[in-house]
Amino acid sequence: TEREISHYYERQDEIETYLKEINRKAHLPALTRDGHRVGVEANIEVLEEIVAAKDNGAEGIGLYRTEFFFMNRKEMPDEETLYHEYRELAELMAPQPVTMRTLDLGADKLVGWHPRLEEANPALGLRSIRLCLHYPEMFKAQLRAILRASAAAQNIRLMFPLVSGIGELREAKRILKGVQEELRAARVPFHEEMPVGVMIEVPSAVAIADLLAKEVSFFSVGTNDLIQYSLAIDRGNEHVTYLYEPLHPGVLRLIKHAVEAGHKAGIEVSICGEMAAEPVYTPVILGLEFDRLSMNPQAVPRVKNLISRSVMKDCRKFVRKALQLGTAVEIGDQLHEMMMKKFPEEFRVFDPSALMARPALPRARRDH
Ligand code: PEP
Ligand code: MG
Repeated sequence: TEREISHYYERQDEIETYLKEINRKAHLPALTRDGHRVGVEANIEVLEEIVAAKDNGAEGIGLYRTEFFFMNRKEMPDEETLYHEYRELAELMAPQPVTMRTLDLGADKLVGWHPRLEEANPALGLRSIRLCLHYPEMFKAQLRAILRASAAAQNIRLMFPLVSGIGELREAKRILKGVQEELRAARVPFHEEMPVGVMIEVPSAVAIADLLAKEVSFFSVGTNDLIQYSLAIDRGNEHVTYLYEPLHPGVLRLIKHAVEAGHKAGIEVSICGEMAAEPVYTPVILGLEFDRLSMNPQAVPRVKNLISRSVMKDCRKFVRKALQLGTAVEIGDQLHEMMMKKFPEEFRVFDPSALMARPALPRARRDH
């Protein structure tokens, strides 16, 4: 109706005005009101997105999903092609850091040039770092390209996805070391001090986070997969979306454990799952003590704005209390109440109630 159309035009104006206002401050460092500094970086899938990352005030690339460059092609890109792509990315972002995640193929991310595996449960199958360790030539080509690109601006950080145990991490590092030795022997320059980190997205990695932390320079918590694997729900399955709860106390406790283990070992801990991009979760993420947050570029200004208006002491208190509650709904209700009180303008424009809604009933139960 005319009335509805004009209502939505008004809403659009309201959102645009609000975003214009907060975008002005998006290039300032993210500092809470009590002076706690957190890094805010961008997740990208293709090189072109660095324009959006920079425009929105990201302080680096916290996750480059390298597999997207390998998809929609007839054959695997060769080392030279990868090297040029990676070098351009690193140089364009310098001196800010670029966190390159090694190939995270398999499950929902497939390529035409690699034999498709018959797997009953691809999400639990030969994917990601496992696939790379099975096909070391493909893995080495990518590592060589990354290492060569690291020489230029020395701002590349390397990160292995879906690591589930120490053995896997050591094998990946052994292959990396081998490639480094080959390059050294051939007098090809690379950044000798390139930080090497690991993604924390499998529950077993959380359980042994103290051991993993001794062997890497940083952690990056991938909540998209950590939620999927810890709650035993397929993140792409519509029948169980009602169980996909970032605020599930089990998820929050796992995250807390990983962050504490990282900090105890003196390494930085980031978050690069979608949870970091949703402003309604910002106080929880701050209270969980992450050092850096990485998210889709468009989310950066809103999240930075909320950080600059938060008080770290309050966020810590909120998380302490939330960890004593039994369900995501209870935590969500308390979060909703606090957000409406503290950030009325943000949530007058963007309504958080949809996120906080009670999970819908599973389909089978609705049908009966
Ligand atoms: C994650 O699992 O949280 C993550 C960042 O990786 P992806 O979404 O690419 O699996
Ligand atoms: Mg993942």
